[in-house]
Formats: sequence, C-alpha cells, structure tokens
Amino acid sequence: SAAQEALTRLTVDVPDWPEPGVTFKDITPVLADHHAFSAVIDALAAAGRDDHGNVAVDKVVGMEARGFILAAPVALALGIGFVPVRKAGKLPRAAHAVSYSLEYGEATLEVHRDAIAPGERVLLVDDVLATGGTVVATRELVERCGGVATGVAVLMELGFLDPRKVTGDLPVSTLLTI
Ligand code: IMP
Repeated sequence: SAAQEALTRLTVDVPDWPEPGVTFKDITPVLADHHAFSAVIDALAAAGRDDHGNVAVDKVVGMEARGFILAAPVALALGIGFVPVRKAGKLPRAAHAVSYSLEYGEATLEVHRDAIAPGERVLLVDDVLATGGTVVATRELVERCGGVATGVAVLMELGFLDPRKVTGDLPVSTLLTI
C-alpha cells in the first residue's frame, strides 16, 4: 500500500539509541511528509471501521507521546473523540493509574477516569509496538474506566520482540512488521 511504501522509504533507523544495542525507528520524517502522513492516518483509521466501512469504535486512545500525534488525526478521520493516556503526574483531574515493568525499572500510565464511558469501544493507537507492555497497560486503563479495547493500530511492529505474546487476544493492526 501507499502507507507501507511511505513508511519503508521514510523511517530512519538510528543505531544505538537511546542506548547501545537498540536500533530506534525514527518516524518523524513520515510526519514531515504530507502525503505519507495522510496515507498512514487513513491506514490506521481503517482499524476503527468494520467490513462495511462503518465506524465501529467510540473513542481513540493515544499513548504519550508519539501516539498522540497519530491518534488525534485518526479520531478526527473517524468522527469520534480522542483520549490521551499520559505518563504519571501529567493529568490534572482524577485518573486511573497502571504501572508496568520496563527492561530497567517501572513506568506508570494514567487516564482521566471520566474520559471513557462504561461500555465504550476503544481503539488504541501508537507508533511502534515493541515489547507490548505499553499496550497491555493501556488496555488495563480502558478496562478500569469500564470500556472495551477492541484493538490496537500501529505503524510498526517489532516482531522479533514477540509483542503478541503479551498482547494476547487483542487484535493488532500493523502497517509494517520488522
Ligand atoms: P513497548 O511498551 O515495549 O511495546 O514499547 C512501545 C513504546 O515505546 C511505544 O510508545 C513507542 O512509542 C516506544 N518505542 C519503542 N521502540 C521504539 C522505536 O524503535 N521507535 C519509536 N518508538 C519506540
């Protein structure tokens, strides 16, 4: 697809960043190219539609920080609301918090308690699916609100990290698998 072609052409591999041994996928050149950005947003938004093209979710959740950049235009494309999932201590009102372990240490993600209504169907959007920890924690936040995570849409899945072992039964839509 045009989205896959653009991602392949424009994503930059940054060796040994943020630490030795890690190759970081830098997607900022995709965002800087209007045609590429537009194509990837359309492709991500397809994960929020059913087989007839009807919108099948009620909210789009984006995970701080690159998830925000993608999830907000996906929400606008689908004609539904956007909800930010933020790192600890950033949200001003009553929030649910979920902690999860990283390679070194712990991270905490939060969502406003009233951002998702009970029973709402929620699409998660992020740039890269790596170990899957961020997605699992975000799904837990959606469920704490009483919502249902119907799937996650990402630009890229780092298949060699086996994220689907931890994302389990949550449907994953990816434009590219590395
Ligand atoms: P996970 O929790 O290990 O799946 O990591 C996913 C989170 O880390 C996402 O929010 C990504 O934005 C970020 N991430 C991990 N690896 C990369 C990368 O190579 N490029 C961009 N973001 C990454």
